[in-house]
Parts: sequence; C-alpha cells; structure tokens
Amino acid sequence: MRNPRQLFLALALSALLASLGARGEAGSSDLSVEQVAGGVFAVLQPAARRFNQSNSLFVVGDDGVLVVDTQSSLEATGAVIREIRARTELPVRHLVLTHWHGDHVQGISAYRELWPEVEVIGHATVAEDILERAQPQADEEIGRYEEAIAAARDRLQNRVDREGNPLSVDNQKILAGQIEDAETNVAGMKAIPRPFAVPDLGYDGELVLGSGSGAARVLHWRAHTRGDSIVYLPAAGVLVTGDVLDDLPFGGHGYPSSWVTALEELSELEIRVIVPGHGSVRQGKDHLALVLDMFRSLSGQVGAAVERGLELEATQQSVDLGSYRERLAGDDPIAGRAWDNFIPATIERAWLQARGELPD
Ligand SMILES: [Zn+2]
Repeated sequence: MRNPRQLFLALALSALLASLGARGEAGSSDLSVEQVAGGVFAVLQPAARRFNQSNSLFVVGDDGVLVVDTQSSLEATGAVIREIRARTELPVRHLVLTHWHGDHVQGISAYRELWPEVEVIGHATVAEDILERAQPQADEEIGRYEEAIAAARDRLQNRVDREGNPLSVDNQKILAGQIEDAETNVAGMKAIPRPFAVPDLGYDGELVLGSGSGAARVLHWRAHTRGDSIVYLPAAGVLVTGDVLDDLPFGGHGYPSSWVTALEELSELEIRVIVPGHGSVRQGKDHLALVLDMFRSLSGQVGAAVERGLELEATQQSVDLGSYRERLAGDDPIAGRAWDNFIPATIERAWLQARGELPD
C-alpha cells in the first residue's frame, strides 16, 4: 500500500518510536504459511505487521512455481523465498505483481537474483508507476525515517520523551530497540537496487498462466490502483486479491466506483478461499460481501454529499461508516488506527470522482 501504506507507516513511525509497538522485521521466522489448496500456499505476515508488509501466495506447479507479490525489502522477501524453498526445489517461473505499491514490488530483485529466468508480470501501467511513484516515494520515506531516527536519538541521549519528561530506564531500552528497528528498515530500503526493478511483461485485460487444472487467470481491475491484478485459480477456488480486498480497504489511490464494480464481479466467481494482500485468509465470500457493502455505502453517502454541494471536509465529516468500522476493525487498536488513516483518503477519492475530478 505504500506508498499509501508508507503514509500510514510514517504516521505509525512516530507512534513506533514513542511507544511500545511490534518490533521491526528482523528475524522473519514469524511468518505463517497456510496451505489453502493442493500445492497452493499463502505466506502471511504476523498480525502486528499486517498493514506495513504484504502477504504472498505461491503455487507449486509441475515444472515451476508461480508467486504473487513480493515484500517491501529484499530481506523481508528473502524470508518468504525461504518458505518457498523449504517446500519445493522447483524454480520460480512467474512472479505476478498485484499492483505498484512498494510493499508489493520492492523485492523483485531477490527473485531475479536467484532465478534469472523468472518472468515478472504486472498490468501494463505497473512499470511506469513503480519508477515514477513507488521509487520517489520510497526515497522520501527514507528521508522521513532518517529525520525521525535523529530526533529519537536526541531524546534517548537526553533521556526525555516527546514532551520533555524524563524517560524511565525501561522506556530508554524500548526506544533504543525501536531506533535499531527503524535503522534496519532504512538500510533495507536503501539496499533495493536503483532504478527499481519493473515487470518484464505488462498485460491488459486478462492473462492465463499454465493450463488445465493448474491454470491461473490474471485479471485486471481499476480499483485500489489503476493497475490492479487479481489472480484466480478456478480449479482450487482460490482468489488472490492484492489490496483490492484486504483486511481494511485503503483507497488513497483508488477508483471507488469501479472498485464497487470489481467487487461485484468478483462476487460472481466460484470462491472457496480468499488470500488478501494484507491480513488473514478468508473462507468463502462473507468478507468480500461486507467490504462491498461498505464501498456501496461510502459511494452513496459521498454522492449525496456532492449533490448537496458539500466541500471535501464537510463530506468527510458527514459520512458515517461506524458500523463497518466496528465490524472490520473491531477493538484492535492497530486496525482502528489504520481505518482512521485509510477512510478519509478513500472518501476524498470518491468525492473527486463524484465531481468528475478524479485524476488518472
Ligand atoms: Zn496497496
């Protein structure tokens, strides 16, 4: 979601450096791997990291492996690759990127390094968006991280918190650990080769990889971004959604009305299991139906606000999605913070769209 998620990350970083939080991504043995069908494995990030780092899926075929999405760093991607190699000696032949956001694409080089023949695939707009959006956003993010780290180092040296109050010995230790984690993250972002790697193959419409019961359909949607790919394994009834459908929808680069259409059409597919870009594996279509309802409600309320002539801020205040927040974020503080960051950005896109002003 970076670089939308990076926005969230930047916000989270101040909290991260100021308070207790999940430690960074060092020691990635905390991944969980769930077999969702024969030869089909979801590699899932731990809950505390689920909005900052993305899931992957891999399919072990007869003569090679198909992988969906990388992570935001070579190190985090390497941890996923270790899970793949623990389960098959076959080479990774196809790597499908669900969209251009850095947390899904910044590990491409880790695959190319190990399997030079791998074919990296994304929608036709993904290469341009990686180079013109993901890479500059990552570099800005590095700058913000470095500033936050420097400020945190000052506080540690002076043994004070943000308000200038004395920092207890325990909190000094926590802050030192958080600075170390943040430095690891910055080093990871700097280690990604420039220019960022991009897909070998850009497609439009639909692409089929493999054949027969092993076939994977790659379908383009304009929803979470202009170049989303959904991977559908019809024989297994597995839908790999990237961020078109994840734990909580981030819409800051989205197209709300065609997002609704996408979710409606995906609902028509035979789906047994959904593997989202962030969050846990979902059985059946309940989560899909809930998120679709939420988007319909959001679009309807924003459309009515625009008809009444409301400006953006008034629109954001007028939209009531409280019952969806309750069902989607519950009382999980991480999800609650994510929701509060994600939804205003989504409303802004819907507002622009309703006024016919949504940029490409
Ligand atoms: Zn995303």
